[in-house]
Amino acid sequence: MAAARLEEQVALVTGASRGIGAVIARRLAQEGARVAVNYQASGEAALQVVNAIVQSGGEAAMMAGDVSKEGEAEALVKQVIDQWGRIDILVNNAGITRDRLLLRMTSDDWDRVLEVNLRGAFLCTKYVMPHLIRRRQGRIVNISSVVGLGGNPGQANYAASKAGLIGFTKAVAREVASRNITVNALAPGFIDTGGMVDQMTEEARRTVLGRIPMERFGSADDVAEAVSFLCGPGAGYITGQVLTIDGGMVG
Ligand code: NAP
Repeated sequence: MAAARLEEQVALVTGASRGIGAVIARRLAQEGARVAVNYQASGEAALQVVNAIVQSGGEAAMMAGDVSKEGEAEALVKQVIDQWGRIDILVNNAGITRDRLLLRMTSDDWDRVLEVNLRGAFLCTKYVMPHLIRRRQGRIVNISSVVGLGGNPGQANYAASKAGLIGFTKAVAREVASRNITVNALAPGFIDTGGMVDQMTEEARRTVLGRIPMERFGSADDVAEAVSFLCGPGAGYITGQVLTIDGGMVG
């Protein structure tokens, strides 16, 4: 039998208790990686993700921590190193929205979204990087959004955070390319994770689908597949890129 593509590797997936992050964690574990399942509040859900991985023969551990708080991000990375002695892959997936039109947006709405989506990715990357540099290998995948490329009314804070994540990706990719570390971003479109898409009215659903040339919502598996590719041996010469996963929506 062929060796698993990510055998021996250790991955930290932030915000992996549910949604896209949970599916990414399971996918990386299927590929042979040992996976740290980070969460902020949903401990029960994170435990279920870990149990599902272990039941399928993989290895995973749940690790709490608010990525936007420097002490917690640092402690999270330390926990991964204490558990497995190394880290090879970081997926900055944790993200939130606080949607409001600009005139109604509070500075707290602005700050919290930027703190989790952008500062959180910065902090996790900063504390993971020395470990990647020491081993002269590593993969970082930042989960941005098509909203960071094209904007969306009611999401000035979210769009700014996701556009910022793209700039961050490109700058860090250039900093660490000579150390054999790749840094890329994914920009998913409408991904059906059972939440927002399920709650849409039939009319809203039709309107959104009318904007997607492939006429379907994306799945978390569509995103996890791209993460798996970018973390695998075939993607070693790809860095500083933004891969859009949106069924052709953003031109
Ligand atoms: P989700 O279902 O709301 O899950 C968010 C995850 O982030 C949860 O695991 C949550 O943990 C975690 N999280 C939130 N704040 C955190 C913090 N401060 N520290 C650590 N973890 C935190 O989100 P999703 O829809 O799967 O989205 C995942 C990522 O993809 C986000 O970055 C999002 O912006 C991006 N994205 C999503 C879509 C989409 O259509 N769904 C499209 C484009 C991009 P707890 O459960 O513990 O709160």
